[in-house]
Amino acid sequence: MADKKTRTLSELGEFGLIRALTDDIILRHPGSRKGIGDDAAVLDHNGFLTLVTTDLLLEGIHFDLTYVPLKHLGYKSVVVNLSDIYAMNGTPLQVTVSIGVSSKLSLNAIEEFYKGIKLACNQYEIDLIGGDTSASVNGLIISVTALGTAQPQQIVYRKGAKKGDLICVTGDLGGAYMGLMLLEQENKLFRKDPAYKPQLDGYQYILERQLKPEARKDLGRMLLAGRVKPTSMIDVSDGLSSDLLHICEASGTGSRIFADRIPVHSETRKLAEQLRISPNVATLNGGEDYELLFTVAHEDFARIQLIEGISIIGMMTGREDGHLVEFEDKSTILMEAQGWNAKQKWEEL
Ligand SMILES: [Mg+2]
Repeated sequence: MADKKTRTLSELGEFGLIRALTDDIILRHPGSRKGIGDDAAVLDHNGFLTLVTTDLLLEGIHFDLTYVPLKHLGYKSVVVNLSDIYAMNGTPLQVTVSIGVSSKLSLNAIEEFYKGIKLACNQYEIDLIGGDTSASVNGLIISVTALGTAQPQQIVYRKGAKKGDLICVTGDLGGAYMGLMLLEQENKLFRKDPAYKPQLDGYQYILERQLKPEARKDLGRMLLAGRVKPTSMIDVSDGLSSDLLHICEASGTGSRIFADRIPVHSETRKLAEQLRISPNVATLNGGEDYELLFTVAHEDFARIQLIEGISIIGMMTGREDGHLVEFEDKSTILMEAQGWNAKQKWEEL
């Protein structure tokens, strides 16, 4: 096996690269309460917590302007960052937006992108407070940083889940992935034959899940009202398998989830059937749903059941039990991490 230093990026994968680059980082300031390794960094200013998270989106890697409207892209760039603040059980307050723009884009186009950014700021009641702009040689580059806050007693990390805790998820999964499959399929047919009319009818929900996702700003309030505090939490950006494994790694646990308990929208199921793929591929490995995946103590079972829109999909086990997905017929498979987006792209490059 190749030495770590000589391994290529595609061998390392997204998570391996992060590990290799950040292994030796030490935090010098006691106020840097949490650095790399969670949805957001946590800074402690004399008991007042600030959350910081940042995301980079590149044309050709994360989005394709042939079928992604710029306004939607602006909206999504903000929302994906807010999702990371909600994943800490925090409240986002501000964003900065930096862009690198190629000369092929018009002012109108950039204004459309900003319309989406401003719409997200209105919708989530946050302020756009700065950023930077530059020329770009290779397509559109977007970097958004979100800042937020959380009460010290409310903050939830990836670390904290224990054996016996229940694994819960909001909303439904796999929709954004199937939306992407549909857009890519129709785009391919259109490229082959420009007279082709893309067939998108009947798939409004999964298209929106992909193009204009929403972050779960409501969960924090619902949990507070239901008197439940998660023991760990993450947002579903890379896919259920990868994101649950992040929680397990940080918490030192194993996990067992039940495939038939994973919530799936009817459009996700319908398209999966049409494309002859298992909906489990979309729910386990598809990313970008921006739902919240969290664990609660077993004694909160009754309380969590009372909160609408939450599915209990499994339980945390001992680390020695591994990570399993159980199907209706009781057969099991090992759950595997798939940093689906960048990993897949790196393999193509
Ligand atoms: Mg995240």
